Parts: sequence; C-alpha cells; structure tokens
Amino acid sequence: MKTAVVTGASRGIGAACAVALAKSGYNVILGYKVNKERAEQFAEVLISGYGIAAIAVQADVSVSSEADMLIDTAYRNFGRVDVLVNNAGIAQFKLFTEITDQEWSNMIGTNLTGVFNCSRAAAKIMINQKSGSVVNISSMWGQVGASCEVHYSASKAGVIGLTQALAKELAPSGVRVNCVCPGVIKTDMLSEIDEDTIGSLIEETPVGRIGTPKDVADSVAFLCSDRAEFITGQVLGVNGGFVI
Ligand code: NAP
Repeated sequence: MKTAVVTGASRGIGAACAVALAKSGYNVILGYKVNKERAEQFAEVLISGYGIAAIAVQADVSVSSEADMLIDTAYRNFGRVDVLVNNAGIAQFKLFTEITDQEWSNMIGTNLTGVFNCSRAAAKIMINQKSGSVVNISSMWGQVGASCEVHYSASKAGVIGLTQALAKELAPSGVRVNCVCPGVIKTDMLSEIDEDTIGSLIEETPVGRIGTPKDVADSVAFLCSDRAEFITGQVLGVNGGFVI
C-alpha cells in the first residue's frame, strides 16, 4: 500500500489533500504543529471513512530534526514514502519596513526551509525506492508578488525555484517534483480578512468565486497519480483565473 506524508494536515488545504489521498488508497501521515486533538480526531475519521492507516504526528517543519522524525515515522510504520505534500505554511500582512528579523526568519523558516527539510528527508528514501512524488504548495503571490506580503511572497517564490531545481536533479532517480500555486482559498488563513475585502477578491477572480481546499487537493492528487507520470518541475495555478 502506498504512503503519503502531508504537512499542515490538521486543517485547511492540507486536510483536504489528506482526504483526497486517503480516497485514492494511500496510508497517510498527518503532520501538524500545535493542533494535536484536531489532527488525532481527523486521523480517526480517515481510518474509519476510507479503511486506510492514518497517523497524526506533531512536527515543526522549520526544525530539521522534527522534519526528519516526521518522514522517519512514515518509513518506520509503512516501509516506504511515495508522496510528500509540502503544505504547512503561515501568512502575515505587514508593511515591508515593519517586518522584524524574527518575522522574516519565521516566514522563511516555515514556508521555505520547511519544504527543504521535509523534501531532503523524503528524497533519501524516494531515491532508494527509485520512485516518488513531491508536491509543494506555493501561492499565486509567489508568482507575481503581493504588496504588504513581501516575506510571504519571497518564501513562496523560493518554493517555486526549489521545485524546478529539485525536479531536474531527481528526475533521473524516478522522483517527480511539482508545485501548486493556489489563489484565494477559504481556510483559517483568510480569517483576518474582512467580508468587504473577500467580496473584492471574488470580483477580481474571473470564475466569480474564491476557491475551496478541495479545489487545491484535487490538483495535488492528480499530480501525485500515475496520470501525471510525465509531469515534473511544473507550476500549476489553481486560482480561478486570478493570475494568468
Ligand atoms: P491554514 O488553514 O492556516 O493551515 C495551516 C497548516 O499548517 C496547519 O495544519 C498548521 O498546523 C500547519 N503549520 C503551520 N506552521 C507549521 C509549522 N511550522 N510546522 C508544521 N506545520 C505547520 O492554512 P491553509 O490556508 O490551509 O494553507 C496551506 C498552504 O497553502 C500554506 O502553505 C499556504 O501558504 C498555502 N496557500 C494558502 C492560500 C489560501 O488562500 N488559503 C493561498 C495560497 C497558498 P496547526 O493546525 O497545528 O497549527
């Protein structure tokens, strides 16, 4: 049975990715940072709903030893790691000149170094297996930049660069690496945005709505599947036409 590791799987887009992969028959490791109860209850839901194995694992992806432990938990329990979805992330709205050293480090540490840490640990296993698929969750703001989100945009642009370079390096070993760039997606990450702003974002989105976590998860599940065997190093916008 195939095994998937999803970081930031306690809620939002990560949880939807875990559901999509469980539906496809993967055993899933659900990474989270603080929401232990929610992640453990979610694991139970996946086990009873889809008849797969699911384990919630607390691991801060910005700390390499914790990322190593997360991937190692998958390998020890299931003997392989077929899919890694690097989804864990944070966002912050702040004027560029007011971003502190700590906020910059936290953003890059979580959103970019976290992808490096988990991918490095998983790549060692995938190279030995001669197969694997990594999907990194970037953002449309990593493609075009967002005002008052310079540190976020920089971290997500870094994820796109990492994806493209790593795809070239790992393709000869049978490992694919792709990237999904969501647009505006209804999750806790939007909780600080007021209704008026959400309304304007909907108006700016050509398809006339904001996205759901499932919109992103379906594209992730496709990129992980055999139907995407010839696809690597690609950046897929899932944004309702917001960025074209
Ligand atoms: P969310 O609802 O805020 O969930 C964030 C997830 O990441 C949670 O599971 C959280 O765990 C986990 N997490 C945060 N920091 C972590 C760390 N240091 N180590 C491990 N896990 C950590 O976010 P979301 O909206 O689903 O976003 C998921 C990804 O999509 C992010 O990378 C985000 O940048 C990207 N994205 C989102 C949108 C959007 O509009 N929502 C758009 C573009 C891109 P806990 O529950 O334990 O805190």
